[in-house]
Amino acid sequence: MGFQDKRVVVVGGGLGGMAFMNAALYAGVKNIQCYEQAHQFGEVGAGVDITANANRILDAFGLQDSLVSRSSPQLPYYMQYHNYQSGKYLGHIEEFSKPHARLIHRAHLLDSLKEPVPEEKLHLQKRLAFIERNGESAPYILHFEDGTTAEADIVIGCDGIKSRVRRELGFSDSPNYSGQVVYRGFVEYKDLPENTATLLRNVVNFRGPKRHLLCLPIGNPATNTDRVGVIGFMTESLDSWDSENWMARAEITTLHDHVRDWCPPVQDIIAGLQAGSPDGRMMKQALYVRDPLAKWFEMNEQNAGIVLLGDAVHSTLPHQGQGVCMAIESGIALATILAHWKNDDLQAAFQFYQDLRKPRTDRVTRTSFEAGKLASSDAPDQLSESFNPQVLMERMKWIMEYNVLDDLKVKGAEYMDFRDSRI
Ligand SMILES: Cc1cc2nc3c(=O)[nH]c(=O)nc-3n(C[C@H](O)[C@H](O)[C@H](O)COP(=O)(O)OP(=O)(O)OC[C@H]3O[C@@H](n4cnc5c(N)ncnc54)[C@H](O)[C@@H]3O)c2cc1C
Repeated sequence: MGFQDKRVVVVGGGLGGMAFMNAALYAGVKNIQCYEQAHQFGEVGAGVDITANANRILDAFGLQDSLVSRSSPQLPYYMQYHNYQSGKYLGHIEEFSKPHARLIHRAHLLDSLKEPVPEEKLHLQKRLAFIERNGESAPYILHFEDGTTAEADIVIGCDGIKSRVRRELGFSDSPNYSGQVVYRGFVEYKDLPENTATLLRNVVNFRGPKRHLLCLPIGNPATNTDRVGVIGFMTESLDSWDSENWMARAEITTLHDHVRDWCPPVQDIIAGLQAGSPDGRMMKQALYVRDPLAKWFEMNEQNAGIVLLGDAVHSTLPHQGQGVCMAIESGIALATILAHWKNDDLQAAFQFYQDLRKPRTDRVTRTSFEAGKLASSDAPDQLSESFNPQVLMERMKWIMEYNVLDDLKVKGAEYMDFRDSRI
């Protein structure tokens, strides 16, 4: 049964939207189109960490080889910690999950997700302006800024933390500034002295007072995709910041001002960033998050509806590396529900999706906020009851060990028909 007769439109072709397109292919949602505002599919920023809970799903989609060839080889540690000033090694969290975490350039992840999706389902330069309800030809007519339209029975808002679709649902809440900005960039291994390059073949967090510098060995040396993703979380006020535009190019010296008295490897990283940047600048982003939403969807009297996914509904601070991972989990959940729901009650199907996902994504949002407080520190030289590798690992186990496909099968057994399904 499911909702195979419905026209499904996805707004936003970022990592969440593209992951949903893969989930739709996997689950068998066929009548689907994706509209992205940009003139090409692309991602900026440093790398991302994709953890076991999401890799399990991506592997089920058949993306394992594509991702592994572009990701860090298996690392011994999930993360290791160093004092910001002395460089002293503080401890590490063992890599405890399977499949192991994959550190990958955002653009490469998007490429891997895009490859299986038929071109005719993807539309560029389509910026959603507004959604018309109860049009003559469809329950929803999406109007894009270029004057074109698209018809839909189900609209899926994957358009990020500033989501236009979310506003269509009537939410006018403001995002919350985390108190930190992030400086994001890459360093080529060839631009680092050998000892620092060797150190940065690991995930390293230089833990400083109210700031930390996270270095990710992204990509795979075998395919020449390897480099160091640098993410500097720095506490700054927004006084001199245009909050409408959360992203900017900043002088690398602005990041350097935060870390001038940090240890020699950090100075090497700054020099490496300079060497790789023709204009001496790097990306700077004010880090925002939204409070969890009480309602993730709206219904239309024609048994049609709008529903949210990814940062549009469950944005989270990145301190547990889960924003994309949660979008991947939500994507397979929603696609499975749409493909396999036993009857034609779309409202019940959306409610099931929300009930399945919201407790978990709310908890990730909350614990990621707490993890951010632990990642930077006022006493960065010390392990404590709450900051030590064993406790940090225990904090994250419930995230990594979860299998959304198993959860769907158990909680959805009554409502979904999994015969003839790959689930
Ligand atoms: C510093 C940092 C580090 C992070 N690290 C990790 C990590 O290691 N692991 C992890 O899992 N997550 C990480 N995240 C979180 C992750 O980046 C986000 O959760 C993820 O990108 C959200 O994907 P999305 O598709 O929901 O939204 P977005 O990535 O924001 O994509 C939204 C898409 O919608 C398009 N769009 C917007 N408005 C419109 C419109 N009106 N019409 C049409 N298209 C539109 C946009 O152009 C964009 O392509 C990190 C985030 C930050 C800031």
